[in-house]
Amino acid sequence: MANQGKQITVDILMETVKEYISHEQNLELIEKAIAYATEKHGGQMRKSGEPYINHLINVAYILATLRVGPSTIAAGLLHDVLEDCGISKEELTKAFDGEIATIVESVTKIGNIKFIDEKEYMAVNHRKIFIAMAKDIRVILVKLVDRLHNMRTLQYQPEDKQRKISAETLDVYAPIAHRLGISEIKNELEDLSFYYLHREQYYDVARLVEVRKAERDKQVNMMIQDISDMLSEHNILHRIFGRSKHLYSIYKKMTTKQKRFDEILDLLAIRIVCEEELNCYEILGYIHAKYRPIPGRLKDYIAMPKMNMYQSLHTTIVADEGNIFEVQIRTEKMDSIAERGIAAHWHYKEGKYSQEKEQREIENKLSWFKDFSTLTDDVNDDAQEYMELLQKDIFEANVYVMSPKGRVIDLPNGSTPIDFAYRIHTEVGHATIGAIVNGVLVPINTKLKTGDVVQIRTTKQPNGPSEDWLKFVKTSHARNKIKGFLQKKELEDRQDYIKKGQSMFVEELKKRNLEDKEIVGSKRLESVYKEFNVKNDDDFYYAIAVKSLALHAIMEKLTDTRKSLLDTINFSKLFNKPPQKKTISKSGIRIAGVETMMVSLAGCCTPVYGDEIIGYITKGQGVKVHRKDCPNIVNETKRLIHVEWDSEFETGKYEVQLFIMANDRNFLLTDLVTIVSQCKAGLNAVNSTVNDDKVTATTTLKIVVEDFDHLKLVIANLRKVNGVIDVDRVTL
Ligand code: MN
Repeated sequence: MANQGKQITVDILMETVKEYISHEQNLELIEKAIAYATEKHGGQMRKSGEPYINHLINVAYILATLRVGPSTIAAGLLHDVLEDCGISKEELTKAFDGEIATIVESVTKIGNIKFIDEKEYMAVNHRKIFIAMAKDIRVILVKLVDRLHNMRTLQYQPEDKQRKISAETLDVYAPIAHRLGISEIKNELEDLSFYYLHREQYYDVARLVEVRKAERDKQVNMMIQDISDMLSEHNILHRIFGRSKHLYSIYKKMTTKQKRFDEILDLLAIRIVCEEELNCYEILGYIHAKYRPIPGRLKDYIAMPKMNMYQSLHTTIVADEGNIFEVQIRTEKMDSIAERGIAAHWHYKEGKYSQEKEQREIENKLSWFKDFSTLTDDVNDDAQEYMELLQKDIFEANVYVMSPKGRVIDLPNGSTPIDFAYRIHTEVGHATIGAIVNGVLVPINTKLKTGDVVQIRTTKQPNGPSEDWLKFVKTSHARNKIKGFLQKKELEDRQDYIKKGQSMFVEELKKRNLEDKEIVGSKRLESVYKEFNVKNDDDFYYAIAVKSLALHAIMEKLTDTRKSLLDTINFSKLFNKPPQKKTISKSGIRIAGVETMMVSLAGCCTPVYGDEIIGYITKGQGVKVHRKDCPNIVNETKRLIHVEWDSEFETGKYEVQLFIMANDRNFLLTDLVTIVSQCKAGLNAVNSTVNDDKVTATTTLKIVVEDFDHLKLVIANLRKVNGVIDVDRVTL
């Protein structure tokens, strides 16, 4: 970072501030903060022996180089008064305002977290820091800059403290700076931490860089001259310069990618900064025309910005002498965002409104912070688990997908359309019934890739999320929303079942002329509970309602008949037993050894007679029969039960939902419906919408078929209809 060694005075600070802040009141605010901090910290010294105020002036100065607003600079100047000067938040609010006092308070809170080497404590740190950030991005900026200046003056701390602070900086602060795109600060934090943590290696790398410097500089300068001349010939205004990699990034490449120093440094780096976005592509064209580009190395981060808002074109070319150059091409604005990240977006404008509007935009871009604030309340307070979540959500997050309207959404690697849907809106997530990715209907557990265009299909009468979604969702945000919904529903459902079971039981007693008052709550009933492995009333009635306990078996026990309990279903025993006898159930499904179990066809994959099927024992709706390849059960290992179709019970009526993607045209729907009827399939519902691209249409048909072969026939014929792109069975 520039001016690192320079002694920063109040005058230099104010000069820098005035480069971009002109409003008198704003300048007064900053001057007042300087005076206030100077007075309150009067007489305090830093470990270096300097007056304490120097630290605050430095922090404010770095903030000013990041071009933050006046309130943030004031907060930077005041960030230690609560902690070190015995000032209360109320006093600070009175002297300045609530906004500044709140920023200072949050910065103080983060500072008060004591860093301890053990993993658990570190995780707690992470959390608190992130939560604090989620409230106000300005807090992070002040805290990052505070840390930067402390790192710059770390030599005055004892050695063990140097190591601890450096480790924390490397683990927590540098990734945050990276995440916010402030590469200037990130690089300096990394190099400083590197120096204190691995001093020998630091010097090794520095020496290696130094030895090769003269030769490298020569090559780079020649290339710069060459390119610059060419661009000037074409009248393109530009700045061009060589870049040096910071030491820690070289070290990291050597250790993690196992590359030799030569291989890393052989890449010579050049950056070209121009005026307009169009110039970038123009320049790229000229460079590729003159030098040989290495295939696969062209990256267009202008069209597809990185999550931290970084934009640039990257290419790698081979010069005539065989030297390889990495070239970055970007506009001044992109360059400033690359160096100063989120702070660069903070175009300071006089007047409060515009500043708030800017901040809202920034908050939208950093939607992942919100995931963190929702995390604290309803997720297990286990620091280890949190650490993992953090790794997943923050440090590996890097898939960019788009809505059909071009809104770019960032998600962690491995995210699915369901994660996407919940990011759009909780209600969208709850109502999701399908997803179309790049115009093709896909299973909802499909892993999204960068660049995918994702369209979520919703229903107006949502059943809510399925428990199975939890198996593949990636974001904690979606997970929490789904869990929350299911927990609420399960609780409601359970209460309903308990009530229902109770009335079923009483009904049954009446039928058998038994006095319910004598039996309910009696010792006799309690002993029956034991026989069935039931713990309490609620469980008992619930089991009756969901038919995991057969009423007649209970009655037999109660009336002391000698009939055994063999034909009572006991789930826990059932799993490990081989099929004994085959029983026919009303749904046309056989389940070995089971008679009274409630069996129904799953609504998600709507199996038809002839499909390969498997049963899933639900928590209250008996056995649901799924297709074997249904994404909702493919990962299931427990609670599965073998089922098969019973030929004697074929109903010949199976409802199936089909999604049809087609190029829209006149009479498309008529043709589709005609085919269904020609194939002698029933038609229960039709719905067709033109997609956002205005070219294709999605049609949903609910048809009734006799069996799997019949269904295949219908699908095959629908595929032949002119304009049809794809026909798919819907699995929800
Ligand atoms: Mn400080």
